[in-house]
Amino acid sequence: MKYKITTLFFFLTFIFNSVQAKDLMQPTSYSKDLYQVEILDGNYSKNITHPDKFLGFGIGERVASPWQITNALKQWSTQSDRIKIVEYAKSHEGRPLHAVFISSPDNIDNLDKIKSDLSALSDARIINDRQARSLIENLPAVAWMAYSIHGNETSGADGALAAIYHLIASTDNDVVNMLDNMVIIVDPLMNPDGRARFAKSLEQYRGTAPNYDDQSLLHTGDWPYGRTNHYYFDLNRDWFYLTQPETKGRVKLINEWRPQILVDGHEMGPQDTFMTGPPREPINKNIDIDLIKWGNVFAQDQGNAFDKRNWRFYTGEWHEDLYPGYSFYVQFRGTLGILYEQSRMAEDGVRRPEGTIQSYKESVHHQYISTLVNLKSLLKNSKEMYKDYWDGRKYNISKDSKYANQTFVVLPTDNNTRLNTLADKLKAQDIELFQNTKDIKVDNVKLQSGQIVTNYTIPAGSMIIPNRQPEAPLIAAILEFDADIDTDVLVEERQKSLKSGSSIMYDTTAFNFTMMYGLNAVTVDEHLDSSLETWKPSSVSSEITKDAVIWATNGVDDNSVAFAARLMEQNIEVRIIDKESTLSGHTLPRGSVAVLQMDNPDVLNLQNLVKTVSDELNISVVSIESGFGPEELPDWGGRHFRLLEKPQIAMLSHEGFNSYDVGVSWWSLDHHLGIRHSMINASLASYGDLRRYNTIIIPSGRAIDDYTVDTLLDWVSQGGTLIAHNRSTRFLTSEYGIGSVKQLQNTFDESDKYNFDLLREIYSQYENIDKDKTNNNIVDFEVSYPWEELDGTLSESELKSRDKWQSIFMPSGSIVAGRIDDEHWLTFGTPNTIPVLYSNLPILMARSYVDAPVRIGQMIPNNEIKEPRIINWSSLPAGNDLNVRMSGLVWPEASQRIANSAYLTRERIGDGQVILFSGEPNFRGATLGTNRLWLNAIVYGPGLGTRSRINP
Ligand SMILES: [Zn+2]
Repeated sequence: MKYKITTLFFFLTFIFNSVQAKDLMQPTSYSKDLYQVEILDGNYSKNITHPDKFLGFGIGERVASPWQITNALKQWSTQSDRIKIVEYAKSHEGRPLHAVFISSPDNIDNLDKIKSDLSALSDARIINDRQARSLIENLPAVAWMAYSIHGNETSGADGALAAIYHLIASTDNDVVNMLDNMVIIVDPLMNPDGRARFAKSLEQYRGTAPNYDDQSLLHTGDWPYGRTNHYYFDLNRDWFYLTQPETKGRVKLINEWRPQILVDGHEMGPQDTFMTGPPREPINKNIDIDLIKWGNVFAQDQGNAFDKRNWRFYTGEWHEDLYPGYSFYVQFRGTLGILYEQSRMAEDGVRRPEGTIQSYKESVHHQYISTLVNLKSLLKNSKEMYKDYWDGRKYNISKDSKYANQTFVVLPTDNNTRLNTLADKLKAQDIELFQNTKDIKVDNVKLQSGQIVTNYTIPAGSMIIPNRQPEAPLIAAILEFDADIDTDVLVEERQKSLKSGSSIMYDTTAFNFTMMYGLNAVTVDEHLDSSLETWKPSSVSSEITKDAVIWATNGVDDNSVAFAARLMEQNIEVRIIDKESTLSGHTLPRGSVAVLQMDNPDVLNLQNLVKTVSDELNISVVSIESGFGPEELPDWGGRHFRLLEKPQIAMLSHEGFNSYDVGVSWWSLDHHLGIRHSMINASLASYGDLRRYNTIIIPSGRAIDDYTVDTLLDWVSQGGTLIAHNRSTRFLTSEYGIGSVKQLQNTFDESDKYNFDLLREIYSQYENIDKDKTNNNIVDFEVSYPWEELDGTLSESELKSRDKWQSIFMPSGSIVAGRIDDEHWLTFGTPNTIPVLYSNLPILMARSYVDAPVRIGQMIPNNEIKEPRIINWSSLPAGNDLNVRMSGLVWPEASQRIANSAYLTRERIGDGQVILFSGEPNFRGATLGTNRLWLNAIVYGPGLGTRSRINP
């Protein structure tokens, strides 16, 4: 049967070639002839099918498709007793992901025992030194070799295919010996959907002659490119946020196996050479110093192997290691991460400045040789590495470690969905979670604002994560409010910014889970271990009684938005209570969602529908017998029970938009709401029938033009809700835009007006008045006006100069504090200070006729401040400080520049509205705090922010 498939394949290839030959000229040369060195040059068993047979071309000559790779693995697993394949996940498009276990037949039979021994070695609370020594003596080395997480970085997977064959088919002694002493887990194809997309574009853009021009479509592919997965996620940023099935399955298996090394084979720019570890600064301080040492040992061996073949390479340079969401999250768990970056050759090869053409096959060969060399280094050093590992594991739980007196606390919240999501991600990393059964008093805590509060009481029911536990370094890396960066790194960064506007930071400098998630948390410099029990999700109770007049769910919970959306999709009328209320003894925070029997007189199974939807979403629903709210509180017939309107959503997409932002927004619609929506080509916005939609999302990008804006303006005026992000917001606030929101740099001629309106907004929160003065009939000559007290307001030209200078220092992925308007519907379910991921975003300026539900800066009372103070265009009343930075690198100049600007605006235009996000609210599927604002905008926007229609 196998034989027949192969024959058929060759037959088809033959037919295809002969048809092609009739129409098109044969090329004058073939790229497969560029590199004559044989990749597979060992002695191999005849019983194992050579990969060339599965591929229909020589290994490394072209890009193997996901199907071809999977097929080869499946066939090999029936031919060899050195291999076992495990399907650890399925991609969104249904393709399998495999971990290929390769070892001696004895070890393969013994995998469960090996795994449990590795697990024992990782927990110094359950074994002692003597037991550890014995485990180390008997354990084989364990390597995890993973490739092509970016789908268009293809050479890794082809190199892996060659390596798998070599390891299972070789009859050479060194391979047989290696397998006696090592378990090699190959993850050849980490992103099959991305690779399939790129493989398709290779087919699509192929002409007759090989193309060596790295600018051609054959090499680049087209939007959204092959790098990402189905929802355009960069899977190599997802290793602790764990949002995608590929990562979830993979991390589970890696964490069960605790390999000694994890190789991650990538590609980089086509004109580059080859790079490997170890990284340069900034390096995350929670990485064990031993791993840096081992990194150098492996790099030295790899360098020698490259030298011998006359292959150029380098280490360090742009490879830093601050962000813990790369595959190198494993380094925080004691595994050495090794990065390969091979220059990208598509499959034809690339012409280089020196006139040579580097072939694809050579790039595959680089991945292959690196793989074998790293495995040899591991074989040589495995025992020593295990010893270091064991020392590290002992250190993590010792009372003398730097983590020993550190406890992370997530404060209680009604947002069960979000808290449970956090718990799931932490547990997936073997992090042990607890909750306190009663209040705990501690000497001091650090708040997310950076403030230290003394004599603090941690309320019962908090999530408690004492960091004296086996995964301490990882816990610190992902929960510490700030990653420490050395002063000399900061100096270099600042010099680079000033000299050339460039940065040495490769990724975001802020990433901690609780701020990304918008969950309130504190850090305690103590080891908390009393009054704790294992953390468990709070139980969901739904009493959905038939004779209730209202069923309602708590609006703080993120899934309440999906509850409303999924009911409306089934044409159920749904209301939202926009002010905290108490009904039949149940307290419902603002934003709670209510379904009224009397709104839905014709729906017979209403009660069942409510039950089904709340069960799907795992949220509690209360049944309310009376719509009477005591005293001032809302009653069901009053204006606080606001009728929602079913969202009919379109999202503009395609070329010109940022594919990450499109993808993550698309994913959020499918993941958080699961309701119908259309992604439409942006060009359709100018000629399609937009009346089908009442909500249109414009992701970040440069794809809209003046004409599109005109069409959208008409549509908004007639009642649409338009939502834009980042670069699209920049366009909509330019001179061709919609509405009156402006960008900072265009407002300096009227700064006083903006400050006037800002002060109005700030003072509207004040609660103190002098009643005697107020009731005095004689005109008071002592009235003070906020702007008159200001000393040293800045001129327009001074503001402009400052702005130019400050703009050099904009952050790239840091977290700043957003203060919210806690009466606005866009902030339902949001804490008073919302952490906002910030980079070089449009800085939004809103006058009082525009809502600014989120502004940058948290007001902190400080009675020592006796005078009002000026920050650029704005001013701050006496008695206050303003916190801007929360985490990551935010230069003081940047803090000043963005202080008091709007992160989110909402403006009524005609019968509709425009909602502008300065940033990308759904970044990496992990900024759940700002994601909630976005979900509110989409689901509640049509009902709450536009003129409601009565259909005759
Ligand atoms: Zn890559």
